[in-house]
Amino acid sequence: MNIHEYQAREILREHGVPIPPGKVARTAAEAEAIARELGGAVVVKAQVHAGGRGKAGGVKLAPDAAAAREAAESILGMEIKGLLVRKVLVTPAADIASEAYVGIVLDRASQRPVYMVSSEGGIDIEEVAATNPEAITRLPIDPRYGLLPHQAMSLAFALYDDFETVRQAAKVMASLYEAYEAASATLAEINPLIVDEDGVVLAIDAKMNIDDNALFRLPDIEAMRDLEAEDPAEKKARDAGLSYIPLDGDVGCCVNGAGLAMATMDLVKYYGGEPANFLDIGGSSNPDKVVAALEIITADQNVKSILFNIFGGITRCDDVANGIVEATSRIDIGVPIAIRLTGTNEDEAVRILEENGFNAMTDMDAVVQRAVALAGGGEGAR
Ligand code: GDP
Ligand code: MN
Repeated sequence: MNIHEYQAREILREHGVPIPPGKVARTAAEAEAIARELGGAVVVKAQVHAGGRGKAGGVKLAPDAAAAREAAESILGMEIKGLLVRKVLVTPAADIASEAYVGIVLDRASQRPVYMVSSEGGIDIEEVAATNPEAITRLPIDPRYGLLPHQAMSLAFALYDDFETVRQAAKVMASLYEAYEAASATLAEINPLIVDEDGVVLAIDAKMNIDDNALFRLPDIEAMRDLEAEDPAEKKARDAGLSYIPLDGDVGCCVNGAGLAMATMDLVKYYGGEPANFLDIGGSSNPDKVVAALEIITADQNVKSILFNIFGGITRCDDVANGIVEATSRIDIGVPIAIRLTGTNEDEAVRILEENGFNAMTDMDAVVQRAVALAGGGEGAR
């Protein structure tokens, strides 16, 4: 689950990370009032589930309350990475002497939380990782012992030379780890962690992702879910009972079962394509689920072809076929579809599809190659 910066700030603050105060506004007038209450220069920051807000114009410095109002006016209602800004955080502006990156991410390869720090702060860490990987210090943490004091010190020394600064930063490292663990986060990031003009170490941005599977025992955090801020496609998928994860490619995938969905994505890549999404329509699918899945997939402007890969066990192929026919009559798909169905009621499914002008295949390699070709990609297998 994604949470907003202001919510991540609350969690980090509770665990002792030094963070300037701040309040959330839904209108420009509220932003002005908060700025007046805080006094002095403030920063007005878009609260959306996306990074890179600064670059998109969603973070603005305002010297006084009137300027904060103007900043909020321009930020509220703007779209950042397709997400509408409905709230802004108003927080005192810090005087930045230096910016660093500090983050913890759950790493599948090492099966541990991995601490990452870099003095190349403020900018996208993905960019640093791609262009200047030596600038990132990585430290896998053994979850049985947590972050040990000497590890906190060595992370801090990777960023700073001055001992007083190191001492403050080491405390931040410990507090951030504590917050990461307490919130069952899969990501906890401070970018930038700054040293201000007075030599004080402060977190001025915060990002956290929470493990959905832990929410049942974290009611306070579950209550932070902001339905109106969620990606419309992800929300729609959850309401329809589909597992959906958008990706960057152009082959829309509609598959039943998480394992088959993963294998399908692998095969799309193998044949030179790029999957646009992971989508599992689940077991016992009814036609409505297929309709919802097609609506979600086709709402993604990047999708150039749709690949159905259905293994009929509990899922009945004829249900899926009916769903495809119904969906394509209800909405304009606008892109070609490649379909493979095999298993329960396969013959019936093929009959339904063919009667309605679709081709149905049974071979997985063949259908994936076809979907990749329809999307205009793939020069055969790698
Ligand atoms: P992001 O772009 O979504 O990561 O948003 P950030 O909160 O990291 O803000 C982007 C950039 O705005 C930061 O890297 C800073 O350079 C700048 N910024 C944010 N808050 C302040 C502040 O309090 N004072 C100053 N001077 N700059 C700030
Ligand atoms: Mn940031």
